[in-house]
Amino acid sequence: MRLSKGTRVVVASHNPGKVWEINQLIHPYGLDAVSAGELGLAEPDETETTFEGNARLKALAAAEGSGLPALADDSGLEVDCLDGQPGIYSARWAGPGKDFGLAMKKVADEIAHRDGWNGNGDGPGANFISVLCLAWPNGEVRTFEGKVFGNLVWPPRGGNGFGYDPIFVPKGDTRTFGEMEPEEKYAISHRTRAFAAFKAAMLDEISPGAANAEPDKRDIAAFSAAAASLSTRVEAVAFIERLKDDLAAHQQEWKNATLESYLDALARALGAMPASEEPAWRQLSKAMLAASSHD
Ligand code: IMP
Repeated sequence: MRLSKGTRVVVASHNPGKVWEINQLIHPYGLDAVSAGELGLAEPDETETTFEGNARLKALAAAEGSGLPALADDSGLEVDCLDGQPGIYSARWAGPGKDFGLAMKKVADEIAHRDGWNGNGDGPGANFISVLCLAWPNGEVRTFEGKVFGNLVWPPRGGNGFGYDPIFVPKGDTRTFGEMEPEEKYAISHRTRAFAAFKAAMLDEISPGAANAEPDKRDIAAFSAAAASLSTRVEAVAFIERLKDDLAAHQQEWKNATLESYLDALARALGAMPASEEPAWRQLSKAMLAASSHD
């Protein structure tokens, strides 16, 4: 079964950033993405023991719960000398506080424990992996995998990216993902490779752009959802990049499209924010969105 133009697809994630990324990929093909969160679908526990198993489990739950085809992904870091750990537990190694400084230290300590730092400059081999799964309500599934191989370094280097990026050097380069520009990382990343496999198998017969006979509108709801869930500096950077792309695509719909009026509106929006316990990056992002959409 392939996807065709006009099909509604559930993105089986409650992470608005992920939903937004997947929507960016499939929207030009005339597919209409709706998130599992918007449909009120519960998020299943990731109880399987493989990336593929967890991606299938999430996609199938969303497809069965919604009656629509559903896309899910699962990703992580696998370290050779740790028998593939942290693997499916990559996010969980960062603890409830999502502290990836701590998670990277844990990886480095485990490697030291197994004498995996050999001292000749080349750290232990590792790879990132991303598995995308497309499931239909009748239980049919297709999975697509992408990997990027490299070596780990210690201490962490670079402030770009997220998760384990600052300790991962892809093969053929000397910089960590954390030291690369986002476009350089995304040109070779595991996620890009999984998407490419998905696209080749499921989308390439649908011509991109054909669905956009009507120029599309600003998706304020998607921006609000992304602002409402972000909490880190890296997520705020991604949010600003998206706002910038949105300005280029929909300038006529922006309320304050010159720098002067935008900064005025931003100052007003920040000044009017109610006192809140929310992370400051989230409050700032909400104000940036408000300045683009309110007088
Ligand atoms: P999940 O796919 O949302 O379950 O999260 C997987 C976890 O793997 C993330 O929280 C990161 O820790 C890690 N991970 C996945 N992809 C990347 C990447 O591109 N860079 C750094 N860490 C990653």
